[in-house]
Amino acid sequence: MQKGAIRVQTENIFPIIKKFLYSDHEIFIRELVSNAVDATQKLKTLASVGEFKGELGELAITVKLDKEKKTLTISDNGIGMTAEEVDKYINQVAFSGAEEFLNKYKGQNEGTNIIGHFGLGFYSSFMVSNVVEIVTQSHKDAPAVRWECDGSPEYTLEETTREAGRGTDIIMHINEESEEFLDEHRIKTILEKFCKFLPVPVKYEDKQINNTHPAWTKKPSELTTEDYQNFYKELYPFSEPPLFWIHLNVDYPFNLTGILYFPKINKSYEIQKDKISLYSNQVFVTDEVKDIVPEFLMLLHGVIDSPDIPLNVSRSYLQGDPNVKKISSYITKKVADKLDEMFRSDRKEFEEKWESIGLFAKYGMMTDDKFREKGNKFLILEDVDGSKFYTLDEYKQETAAIQTNKEEKQVILYATSPIQQDSYISAAKAKGYKVVKLDSLVDAAFLNQMETHWEKVQFTRVDADIADNLIDKDENTSHVLTQDQETRLKALFEKIPQQHVKVELKGLSAESQPVIVTRPEFMRRMKDMAAVGGSGM
Ligand code: ADP
Ligand code: MG
Repeated sequence: MQKGAIRVQTENIFPIIKKFLYSDHEIFIRELVSNAVDATQKLKTLASVGEFKGELGELAITVKLDKEKKTLTISDNGIGMTAEEVDKYINQVAFSGAEEFLNKYKGQNEGTNIIGHFGLGFYSSFMVSNVVEIVTQSHKDAPAVRWECDGSPEYTLEETTREAGRGTDIIMHINEESEEFLDEHRIKTILEKFCKFLPVPVKYEDKQINNTHPAWTKKPSELTTEDYQNFYKELYPFSEPPLFWIHLNVDYPFNLTGILYFPKINKSYEIQKDKISLYSNQVFVTDEVKDIVPEFLMLLHGVIDSPDIPLNVSRSYLQGDPNVKKISSYITKKVADKLDEMFRSDRKEFEEKWESIGLFAKYGMMTDDKFREKGNKFLILEDVDGSKFYTLDEYKQETAAIQTNKEEKQVILYATSPIQQDSYISAAKAKGYKVVKLDSLVDAAFLNQMETHWEKVQFTRVDADIADNLIDKDENTSHVLTQDQETRLKALFEKIPQQHVKVELKGLSAESQPVIVTRPEFMRRMKDMAAVGGSGM
């Protein structure tokens, strides 16, 4: 038997890295700026544990374009590298210096936020460059060095001088296919996307492009309502102010911060998904958070930041990641708790916002068991006349006297279009029923689902045949039609196909109407559901 180690030849691996490292080429900017941030953060860490005694100065990153030389340069005044370090961290592909640094200083400095993890980020520069140069001077007493490589496995390394002293320049000689990265505007757009909230100043064309202390990194106690609203404006300059927000802040069993905003939703609201941005240590990762945030929460806007969510991995990996699952249920819980707290602390305000909250609370209750458990307490149903809201318990109490259902099910009478169903509503009210309005997009599906979860509840539309039985139960108030009325009405309703409606000539009361047209409850729901399905909700 022969045992051995697989030998990887760098000649073969280089083109693969160049081509497939990232499908999105612009990501090289994120990687290199992240390395520069790491370099400054590491220096701060060393200073804080007494291993660096020099002047920190103003730590910053600059990005410069030189159109004539066709170069893009990213510079920092961070930790820098000695020749040995260049050899160790750059010449050994996939040896992650960030990981090594984190392990060494773990526990010593809680504030260490290092972005790198994989040891490949630097090489993304070759996706867009013919040649990459590194000019770097370590914070230690060592000469500056210049490394250069044209994307083949050969490199050169020599001593040099760095005018600015401590720090690193990554100089990319942009290749022909990538000339878009020599466009000022393009670079600015990319920087604003990935670097807008980086913790170290990033300067481009001598202007700082980032806010180093975005609201989500602060403590809730440091922030006023105005601060939250201003941050929302910073994220979505053209949006209406948000209804309310939730500040997320956990560090165990995973690390997560963020602010989720609840937008105003009304009937004409166009659902906007992908309005939550995912960050990792203030570096933008993606707008596609559908595997991290439960689907019903996709209506929320804002930012979540977690260094525990892997930066560079595929979607399918994310779905299976245990941290991602925990994060998703944590967010669900926070949102449910927030709604519960709002409901209990200011019911009036909660009711005023119910048009927005309701849609989303119902959607959540349909799709998430835990959320539904909490939602059962704050779900409210609006009376058709708009005068009042009932919780499930309140509805039960209010109608206790007239509930006659033999299966002891709590019947909830509802209307889907109160104006058209007005006479049924008045008839039901005359009997002491409360009729609630369930007319939003999500309602047809909602009540169907809730009946399976709430064993003791039966929703009945006010003009359904079942409701008719309820309302009419052991009543003698029916209005007796004259022969003439009956003949004329029968003729009128003969035109309506009987499988769609049920026509009964039995009058509810003289004041309301002498005839009832009802529709089997199940038929009606089929139609309502179809309408919802077709609307894209
Ligand atoms: P990672 O960031 O995951 O460690 P990279 O390929 O992005 O992997 O970088 C490799 C290593 O090169 C870093 O860990 C760091 O040690 C070193 N390095 C890269 N850029 C800089 C820089 N601007 N200043 C100092 N060291 C750097
Ligand atoms: Mg990196």
